[in-house]
Amino acid sequence: MRKIPTLLAALCLTVAATAQNTSFIPPMVCPEPASQDISATVYHPLEKVTLNCPDKAAADWAKGHLNEWYGNLAPEVKSGSRKKTGLGKEDYELTIGKKGVEITAETLQGVRYALYSLRQIAIPKRGTAKVKGWIAPEATIKDSPAMAFRGIHICWFHETEPWEVERLVRMAAYYKLNYAVIESWGTFRSDVAPWYGWPDGAMTKSEVARIRAIADDLGITLIPQINVFGHATMSRGGAGKHAALDFNPEYQTYFEPVAGWNWCLSNPETSKLLIALIEEQLDAFGKPPYFHIGGDEAQPPSCPDCISKPYSELFLNHIKAMNKAITAKGAKTMMWHDMLLEKGDPRWNGFYANGSKETSEGFLSFPRDIIICDWFYDGAKEDYPTLDYFKGQGFTTLTCPWMNRGGIIAQGKAAREGKADGILGTLWHHYFGNDMVSIYVTLSNTAWNAGVPIRSGGDQFRTHLRQIGWDMKVSDPRHTGIYYDEIPPEPALDN
Ligand SMILES: [Zn+2]
Repeated sequence: MRKIPTLLAALCLTVAATAQNTSFIPPMVCPEPASQDISATVYHPLEKVTLNCPDKAAADWAKGHLNEWYGNLAPEVKSGSRKKTGLGKEDYELTIGKKGVEITAETLQGVRYALYSLRQIAIPKRGTAKVKGWIAPEATIKDSPAMAFRGIHICWFHETEPWEVERLVRMAAYYKLNYAVIESWGTFRSDVAPWYGWPDGAMTKSEVARIRAIADDLGITLIPQINVFGHATMSRGGAGKHAALDFNPEYQTYFEPVAGWNWCLSNPETSKLLIALIEEQLDAFGKPPYFHIGGDEAQPPSCPDCISKPYSELFLNHIKAMNKAITAKGAKTMMWHDMLLEKGDPRWNGFYANGSKETSEGFLSFPRDIIICDWFYDGAKEDYPTLDYFKGQGFTTLTCPWMNRGGIIAQGKAAREGKADGILGTLWHHYFGNDMVSIYVTLSNTAWNAGVPIRSGGDQFRTHLRQIGWDMKVSDPRHTGIYYDEIPPEPALDN
């Protein structure tokens, strides 16, 4: 039985601000809602959550997760109106007052987002030795995402353990991102070509299924990636490793002889193998709506067969074949943009362009169902000519910042203004420390709000990460916080 709050108890929770000029940390939601009025001092018992939502799945999800977060102190979930709300499919309205919590959303996704916001501002009732109840600040919040595609790109390196990927995915969902690209760096354990990757890779099909189930439940869609052109080593360039060839020299024919960085595009076996690998990952990821084929930073060819043919034609035909196979499986192709722009073209001065004139011209004959992932990792720019170009050519285009905070904000603003169709933030190997904090906080804010100042920082992020740790039932001290150890090791490589 839950206690019914007495008037006295309710009054006790209403703590007046004692010293008007005392500085304090107000309750805040990350990403900042577009419309919010959250009291710092007036709190109400968290005992009842009323859902106004026509989506039948919402009540069970809410009950399950409130129980997960609050145990036997979880608020009761009541069904309110089941009529259509007129809200967008990811929008929500959340009010916290004397009568309890009320959530209005059209879909389960909106209810999820409302409950994530509630969880971020609810705190244990004060004044007891152990948690005896929960309270939440009086609030009126209305929010809707600024863009439909809000993604993060996560690298699964040889050193990466499954719990890290799970935590990154959970945090992305908690910060209301709705897609996560998972790039295997030689860690996916393929049955089609067991030699293509490290023999002890942790990204097994059962781990993929486990993390995907968590992602689906939390409202974020996982997207697999295989690099079909350069980056075929599945290892960072500077590391000098090749996750396939270091232990399997008999398969050298699939790759260009120097460094093995590029796939050998003149070998007819390459396309067959890659299509089989793509289909395998699409199945392992539960037939997701997108597949990322990489496609960036390729080197010039070094084998006589590739050298003697027009290389841009080989490349374009290769991409066409990959796209056809992906489309046949019901997904859309995503790819990095830089090989599709001519290197040295003054229009791209200061932006990334690594392709040839022939490639950039030939690509314009491609179907417009390929989604361009336009990566740009520098600080804020006034204009983004590469975004304008791909959008102008009719391609769905995502802007892809890395860890430069000003850049993330400016690129998000460009997307909100319609210069891109969404944002795909990248982490690379910076999924620890303040870089991780900055990327998550800034990316989620720029994907959601319409220019509201970002107040959240490390204190909020670390609090939220701890909550995720409770959900994951972490028991290893190295699996908490933003660093594995309190004296962090030097990263092996800067880039
Ligand atoms: Zn070749």
